[in-house]
Amino acid sequence: MSWENVSTVLTTILYMVSAVLFIRGIKLLGKADTARRGNLMSSVGMLIAVVTVLLEKNVTDTLTEGLAKNAYIWALAAIVLGGVIGAVWAKKVEMTGMPQLVALFNGFGGLSSLLVALTQYMTDKSINVFSSVALGLTIAIGAIAFTGSVVAWGKLSGKLFKKNITIPGKNFLNALLAIAGLGGVVMYALSVADIADENVGEIGIIITTAAYLILGFTMVIAIGGGDMPVIISLLNAFSGLAAAFAGLAMSNSVLVVSGCLVGTSGLILTLIMCKAMNRKLTALLFSSFGASAKKGAAGEHKEPKSMSVEDAYLILEAASSVVFIPGYGMAVAQAQHAVKELCDKLEENGAEVSFAIHPVAGRMPGHMNVLLAEANVPYEQLKTADEMNPMMSNTDVAIVIGANDVVNPSAISDETSPLYGMPIINAFEARTVFVLKRGKGAGFSGVENPLFTNDNTVMIYGDAKQTVSQLVSEFSEE
Ligand code: NDP
Repeated sequence: MSWENVSTVLTTILYMVSAVLFIRGIKLLGKADTARRGNLMSSVGMLIAVVTVLLEKNVTDTLTEGLAKNAYIWALAAIVLGGVIGAVWAKKVEMTGMPQLVALFNGFGGLSSLLVALTQYMTDKSINVFSSVALGLTIAIGAIAFTGSVVAWGKLSGKLFKKNITIPGKNFLNALLAIAGLGGVVMYALSVADIADENVGEIGIIITTAAYLILGFTMVIAIGGGDMPVIISLLNAFSGLAAAFAGLAMSNSVLVVSGCLVGTSGLILTLIMCKAMNRKLTALLFSSFGASAKKGAAGEHKEPKSMSVEDAYLILEAASSVVFIPGYGMAVAQAQHAVKELCDKLEENGAEVSFAIHPVAGRMPGHMNVLLAEANVPYEQLKTADEMNPMMSNTDVAIVIGANDVVNPSAISDETSPLYGMPIINAFEARTVFVLKRGKGAGFSGVENPLFTNDNTVMIYGDAKQTVSQLVSEFSEE
């Protein structure tokens, strides 16, 4: 057996090992207590994949071609540069800034697939028709994932596109761009099949790249507020698909496997979130939900009632069942440790305490679970909306901590509300509702919340961490 054959077999085995580690890693990520191990396992899989790629023949060949053309030097420089930027960024990012960071990472994933495909187009002149179609689709999906993610990042971080932009005839324009881009892929494939001229293929690649770069922008710019988490998840799926098509175009099996894993898991998460928000994916992409958040139904204007911490303590002291409903404000205030302390005090006082977690509370899927796990709140105490809602009317006190949209009853009662149809935590059904927030402002979607003016609701204004800590002190002074 020649060295070339041995190296092909070895490469295939190493790719398979890393694919198995990816799959096993994802499985372990499904549970909080095995998630760290899953992360480590997938990272080892990625390390094996990267080293194997670097050892492949086409890279080693360039070793002899001098420093500037040495692929190892370029790869090492990219790994060090990317690694350092990524590590510093990940270390610095606040928990509240996580979704926009994830959006940007998706965008970079799409951009790298786009660049890999364009490089392949420029250097591989012996490509077959199947690979040319895969390469064209890599360009299309990579481009849409890139610009779409940049827009999502800009919107979420508040740095770009602060005002929602409505594009007249958006659906028609998007359909036109999508068809034009696919037409470009066909043009390229025809040129590879020698049916059309080489120039036709070149123009096709330019059309596809431009059309899908614009499509990413026009598709996401009109999507606002509450739908952004679903879009981030969809763009994540796109970046995975782009990598999978790149793998097909370059006959790289590990890229196909890892791309498919990201693509399918992103798509599954997208569908789960759509279900959680009672949104159809098509409605989300083709309408402008949330882009024009209304202020809620007009009606008599009631002022919310407020209460001091001392009075709130007296009610809590007498409560035998309490449900915490955390939201984005808990993350901003970093109140999770104080919340755990209050939870312990309430339990010592004989109350039954649970946490009702909405799937899109906070700014990323699982945001509240991560924060509460950090504060050592037992996983079993975290309940879903489906588990908690039937028990809400028997709950003495619901403490809404920096949550707003996820407890907004207009999602149930007001057909004109942009939130209408989104399942919520039915905090309004509890005997008494405490809402801990700094002011009367609306939530992420910009929709006003009628819960605040309900007869059984009292506002406790202030930073959530301070308010909760003061409540803990009241219990301690008892
Ligand atoms: P919201 O964003 O609707 O509301 C958060 C509330 O927290 C605000 O009304 C704010 O009121 C209050 N708040 C902010 N800072 C503090 C503080 N320091 N102390 C006390 N309160 C504070 O949060 P929800 O979690 O209810 O809803 C999440 C929203 O985010 C949904 O619309 C969801 O679709 C969207 N989203 C979710 C993502 C996800 O994946 N989970 C990703 C992106 C968006 P005030 O200013 O008066 O204090």
